[in-house]
Amino acid sequence: MSTREHRRTKIVCTIGPATRSVEKMCELIEAGADVFRLNFSHGTQDDHAETVAFAREAAKRTGKEVGLLGDLPGPKLRLAEIEGGLVELDEGAQVTITTEEVMGTAELLPVTWEGLPTAVKPGGEVYLADGRIRLSVLETDAKRVRCRVEVGGPIASHQGLNLPGADVALPSAGREDLEWVDFAVSQGVDLLAVSFVRRVEDLEPVERRIRTSGADIPVIAKIEKPQAAERIEGILNVATSGIMVARGDLGIELPLPQLPGVQRRLLAAAGRHSRPSITATQMLASMVSSPRPTRAEVSDVANAIYQGTDAVMLSEETAVGEYPVEAVRLMDRIARATEPELPYGDWVFNRVAADHDVAGSVARAAVGSTYTLGLAALVVPTTSGRTARLVSAHRPRVPVLAVSPRMETVRRLNLLFGVQCVHAENAEGITDLLVDCAQHALEAGVARSGDLIGITAGLPGQELGTNMFEIHRVP
Ligand code: PEP
Repeated sequence: MSTREHRRTKIVCTIGPATRSVEKMCELIEAGADVFRLNFSHGTQDDHAETVAFAREAAKRTGKEVGLLGDLPGPKLRLAEIEGGLVELDEGAQVTITTEEVMGTAELLPVTWEGLPTAVKPGGEVYLADGRIRLSVLETDAKRVRCRVEVGGPIASHQGLNLPGADVALPSAGREDLEWVDFAVSQGVDLLAVSFVRRVEDLEPVERRIRTSGADIPVIAKIEKPQAAERIEGILNVATSGIMVARGDLGIELPLPQLPGVQRRLLAAAGRHSRPSITATQMLASMVSSPRPTRAEVSDVANAIYQGTDAVMLSEETAVGEYPVEAVRLMDRIARATEPELPYGDWVFNRVAADHDVAGSVARAAVGSTYTLGLAALVVPTTSGRTARLVSAHRPRVPVLAVSPRMETVRRLNLLFGVQCVHAENAEGITDLLVDCAQHALEAGVARSGDLIGITAGLPGQELGTNMFEIHRVP
């Protein structure tokens, strides 16, 4: 039986040049990767189709299903082409950002968005190079923004711009994003992240496009704008399937010292709404070039887990880093060392907002019973994965074994804290269902003969969602 080895926190790895091969992806899976993130901001559709094929092959070879998370580029403001690809901006120098089509230099930088001069004001700030370069705005006209370089450094073609405080009037999902949605649907991608969400309406075009193509891919709202953080209750209430605390952009758009508090509030809000959460960016950043992380990074990963994140994410560490497999192994070890400290008993009662519906109440009762009755595991037959999500939100200490006839669900559930999923048809009659669940628990190693397990599911015909909870002794 393998309950001792069961890791609850999930690991998302961004695939990039350092890991884009079947062999490396097998190594990542064996080190503990649960979900591969495909960053559609880089690479062509052909590149990503190949990565999807590599991931499927790696899953086959390792015998472990991984989820695929497609990350839509969103309306990121970007520089256009720069002469030679790279220029240095010197502190104290002046630089003009222009909407005209020119070749970029250290004095004149072209952007791809015509609205820029009206989106900023004298005295405002523009950040470049992931926040490493800071400009202050001196004056604007119809096409140009003249700035002073406050903090200098190198800047490359196509890098992003951030305008903290400006409510940039771009649609969240433009034509390019919707083409990526079509691509993701055609490739059977399991989850889709939407970048630069500001309000719940920004998710609507993506969700509509998914629905009209006949798919039901869950959408993850990337929270990287302060406006989205302020509106998190509405975003979690209405439209989305989960959130990513996208600390890269959020840490530029917000005063940096506010980031930890915002992260804590976002993760708590996701918990209240029974929604999965991913904590992203710079978790083990020093491992891009060093085999050992800093103490602070290790604490950062552990703290996100204490705060109730479902998944921790690696970006550059696995996309371009020198130690991608080591970074995943380390995350796995940090999670295993942190999880025994989590306040499971309290979380059953106070993590999710009071349930006034049948499904939430049954899920809470099921998790509560694991403590009062000493259940070895919860087994959750599920088609869409909803019951598994509701159970996971209460953070059971014991393993949750979901059983789904849908392969998409099996892969999607890789994102949920504490949930493992096996692919199997669910029996029609309740007696057969219980017998099968006990058998799956034995085979998956989450219970032994003689153990009590809990089985919870939504029975058809009642339209109540999760409405059944049985205690069963494993024969
Ligand atoms: C982030 O900003 O933290 C993030 C995950 O988004 P991206 O990597 O797409 O910029």
